[in-house]
Amino acid sequence: MDDCIFCKIINKEIPCNKVYEDDAFIVFHDIHPKAKVHVLVVPKTHIVSLNELQTHDQPMLGQLMLLLPTIAAQLGLNNGFRTVINTGKEGGQEVNHLHVHILGGRLMLFK
Ligand code: AMP
Ligand code: ZN
Repeated sequence: MDDCIFCKIINKEIPCNKVYEDDAFIVFHDIHPKAKVHVLVVPKTHIVSLNELQTHDQPMLGQLMLLLPTIAAQLGLNNGFRTVINTGKEGGQEVNHLHVHILGGRLMLFK
């Protein structure tokens, strides 16, 4: 997508503070961190949100779930972490490219 900021990061058109990359995902630090550790796990395929997922996305979603604890461990979140997926306007989604927030480094007591 031409006007998608995460696609631009994936295509190296704009920089990011990267922590991990493979063929299917890129992970980078959130530009406005809400916790001591706050990264975004982003599939490289442009999918707008959970609402646009299709059956053929299942293998990627399995990979994504497995990647989350791997990244958390890499970032030293040994005592736990929070994952968040915002969906649509009322879900507070700002960037319309599916991504998972990993937050940690302090007790995540807010709801
Ligand atoms: P969401 O509200 O779930 O769509 O989250 C989008 C997140 O992307 C927000 O937490 C933003 O701070 C973050 N964000 C937006 N632009 C960038 C960027 N260029 N690099 C890193 N994080 C970004
Ligand atoms: Zn995109």
